[in-house]
Amino acid sequence: MASVIKDTGERALLPPFTPEHEELRATIRRWVEAEVAPHVDEWDAAQEFPRALYRRAAELGFLGLKYPVALGGQGGDYVHDAVWAEEVAAAGGGGGVGAGLGAHTGIATPPVWKFGTPDQHERFLRPAIAGEKIGALGITEPGAGSDVASIRTSARKVPGGYVVNGTKTFITNGVRADFLVCAVKTAGDGGHHGISFLLLEREMPGYEVSRKLEKMGWLASDTGELAFTDVEVPDENLLGPENGGFYLIMANFQWERLLMALGAVGAMSKLLAVTLDYAREREAFGRPIGRFQALRHKFAEIGTKLEVSRALTYHALREFTGPEADRRDAIAREDWTHPSITAGLEDVTKAKLLTQRAAVEVADECLQIHGGYGYMREYGIERALRDLRLGPIGGGTDEVMREILGKQLGL
Ligand SMILES: Cc1cc2nc3c(=O)[nH]c(=O)nc-3n(C[C@H](O)[C@H](O)[C@H](O)COP(=O)(O)OP(=O)(O)OC[C@H]3O[C@@H](n4cnc5c(N)ncnc54)[C@H](O)[C@@H]3O)c2cc1C
Repeated sequence: MASVIKDTGERALLPPFTPEHEELRATIRRWVEAEVAPHVDEWDAAQEFPRALYRRAAELGFLGLKYPVALGGQGGDYVHDAVWAEEVAAAGGGGGVGAGLGAHTGIATPPVWKFGTPDQHERFLRPAIAGEKIGALGITEPGAGSDVASIRTSARKVPGGYVVNGTKTFITNGVRADFLVCAVKTAGDGGHHGISFLLLEREMPGYEVSRKLEKMGWLASDTGELAFTDVEVPDENLLGPENGGFYLIMANFQWERLLMALGAVGAMSKLLAVTLDYAREREAFGRPIGRFQALRHKFAEIGTKLEVSRALTYHALREFTGPEADRRDAIAREDWTHPSITAGLEDVTKAKLLTQRAAVEVADECLQIHGGYGYMREYGIERALRDLRLGPIGGGTDEVMREILGKQLGL
């Protein structure tokens, strides 16, 4: 008699995840399903999610997973944060909420932790982990996106600090951020080596949110344009070494790109599950649509894209997280050429490149399988397609990823 293998729905334990990480995954999933997913439509329509969500996520420990207990964090590691990034997407958190919370935990606070002084940890990181202050990262400008070295926001040195003038755009959390980890030019013609980071605070005179931008997707997240006019920033707000900001950008981009890859894996797995259910239930020509060969083949492709994306992303995560202790030592010594600084660079770049396009293609195919219902708001598929379209652009475009990889091949 043929044995029937029951699909229990349990996922295999894949390294670097341990049973403890999987418990965290289940906790995050329960929270997102109960307190986030039911409100995603409403928050997208309002073009923001409540500020209180930061406090709630902080209460549950999610904003400080990888940060030291002494600063109010959970004392975990990057892998805990990886679970958070993947699971918010997999449990239906929506791109906007994922982006708003993710910009805070994944790109604004890590440089403060890594490069900040004990005083900066107390003033910015501790309240950020507690959800009391919201952070944003400001690199992009109207005239400088991919070409980071050409930023023009200037920080003129004066006794006791800097005077900042310039504009930033496309800044996630830019409208409500309490502090901005901001890339500035501190040397007129230094190219990459003339960039520094300053911690700008929203109440500083001359710091203005000039516009809330309207977007195609990620609707629940705020995206701001910021203008600085003679903003006086004290020396104690210099983050990392003066003119050493490029290393901070390098370190930050890697983690941002990995988080985006993890988010895409989470989103693809959710799309596959929802669309499979639909294809089993929806009937046409007297049978479930999933039984048409044309659609079965689509599922075969979607499943393959998901598993290849997952495998490469988890591999990149292992490569990235392995040398973390060495990386922290190298940063403390300001040894920017240490191999740990760029560990995983190639794999992270490949994972970002592969997953962002794959997720857009998967969302598009899932929409197709849903037919007209996929085009309707209530199924959430059209939102996934709009949200995921940012992937091949944000955090470094697909073209820039290909340039990095091409150069690594010596071309
Ligand atoms: C919703 C959203 C949120 C964002 N959040 C943030 C944030 O929080 N903080 C922040 O600092 N930035 C943020 N960004 C900015 C994002 O990182 C940039 O949009 C991205 O880096 C691309 O820059 P750009 O838009 O200026 O495009 P450009 O650099 O002007 O590129 C335009 C086109 O030219 C191509 N191109 C550029 N250079 C090359 C090259 N060398 N070879 C081949 N092709 C090339 C690009 O791939 C692209 O197709 C966000 C953007 C969006 C849309």
